[in-house]
Amino acid sequence: MDIRLYNTLTRQKELFKPLRENEAGIYTCGPTVYHYAHIGNMRTYIAEDGLVRALRFLGWKVKRVMNITDVGHLTSDADSGEDKMELGAKREGKTAWQIAKFYTEAFFKDYKDLNCLQPEVVCPATDYIREMIDLGVALEKKGFTYAIAGDGLYFDTAKLPDYGKLAGKAHVEGIKEGARVEANSAKRHPADFAVWKFAAAGEKRQMEWESPWGKGFPGWHMECSAMAMKHLGETIDIHCGGEDHVAIHHTNEIAQSEAATGKPFSNYWMHIRFLVTGSDGKMSKSSGEFLTLATATGKGYDPLAYRYYCLLTHYRKQLEFSWEGVEAAARGLDGLRALAQKVKAEAGTAPHSLDREAKYFKDFTSALADDVNLPAALAALWETLKDNSIPAPQRLAFALAAEEVTALDLFKDAEAGELAPEVAALIKDRETARKNKDWKRSDELRKELLDKGVLIEDTPKGTKWKLTRG
Ligand code: AMP
Ligand code: ZN
Repeated sequence: MDIRLYNTLTRQKELFKPLRENEAGIYTCGPTVYHYAHIGNMRTYIAEDGLVRALRFLGWKVKRVMNITDVGHLTSDADSGEDKMELGAKREGKTAWQIAKFYTEAFFKDYKDLNCLQPEVVCPATDYIREMIDLGVALEKKGFTYAIAGDGLYFDTAKLPDYGKLAGKAHVEGIKEGARVEANSAKRHPADFAVWKFAAAGEKRQMEWESPWGKGFPGWHMECSAMAMKHLGETIDIHCGGEDHVAIHHTNEIAQSEAATGKPFSNYWMHIRFLVTGSDGKMSKSSGEFLTLATATGKGYDPLAYRYYCLLTHYRKQLEFSWEGVEAAARGLDGLRALAQKVKAEAGTAPHSLDREAKYFKDFTSALADDVNLPAALAALWETLKDNSIPAPQRLAFALAAEEVTALDLFKDAEAGELAPEVAALIKDRETARKNKDWKRSDELRKELLDKGVLIEDTPKGTKWKLTRG
């Protein structure tokens, strides 16, 4: 089924036309793994997961690639400042490699807990240094680069006539305006950006490689161009990321990719508006003050309450974070689950098949096809589940199908009765041990359950469990 997507490049909703029939190649900028991902980052990943799931639901084949930024992302967008990975290493007294491994794992734990689907390809930047150097050489051969002694090899944005087209002309003008505060005055134009940074003389970096331009490391934007083209081809279908990437990161990905190949880099650009919080509205990883999924689960919230909270606001609307909002979403999710389970009980063992011609099904799919309108799709799900005029088996079939997109574990608690009897008995034993304050026994039972693939969570709302493997 056709889908319309808002394209930042053309500033309008467009019919999605793929490069290969019925297939979508998607690139999503991944996390910079020098710290935990905050819930703002996770809003973006939940929205991107919504896109992938919606496309599949509508009958598309999807190949998704996500990078892991484990080198080269500097604290300043002006290609100066410290590498965030080395900063993380200093902060924790570990190596940059240890930091990358730890926070990559932490990211994918949150990602999985939010029921986000694993991308088909996950690629750490440090595994693609060769490809980035090749891209830099191609740019150099075509005359798009110049070197600044003791600093790096730079992309000359003046050589690309449509530089800045993603963000608009005003953006490039804006960078010129900002030139007075620009740290690197040796650049020919303030918008020029690093293709390769030289390791400072006399300084041994933890992450550095040989290159035709000397020892150093790739400029941050290089990784996404090199990896997207390697895995999805020189032109890709859809490129996603948070709205902050429009002005610099994605603008520069386009510049270097299109300069190297002479072809359009990505046909569609999808940007997720920010989750904002705090007095200045910003949620910043570098300031060290940010909310993580663990902050929410620590307060007793199911990670999926946060997923539901995000799904209730369209990805192109800014989301102003509040705990009241999360609380309301948690209650809403409880209500939706209770409703789904009531319908399941009513349907009993009657055969249920999905009625694709029904109005509610069409409402649901057309919401998804309209720029992934998940709030509207969820509204259709609620209404249908509540509508007693629709036979329960049909409502159940619809709820089960909708779960492929919403991924809210609607039947989670109903599955309790379906646990293997010995696992259910272990959970009961553990509850008894806890009542008797026998913490040692309770811990042993928790470990035993984990070995059997059941994770126990003690929350202020009581003990909950979930399966760690499907
Ligand atoms: P980073 O780990 O900083 O490279 O960011 C990972 C992803 O999160 C990128 O797609 C960013 O654009 C996105 N992002 C960063 N901050 C926010 C926020 N407050 N709300 C939504 N997305 C964000
Ligand atoms: Zn990127």
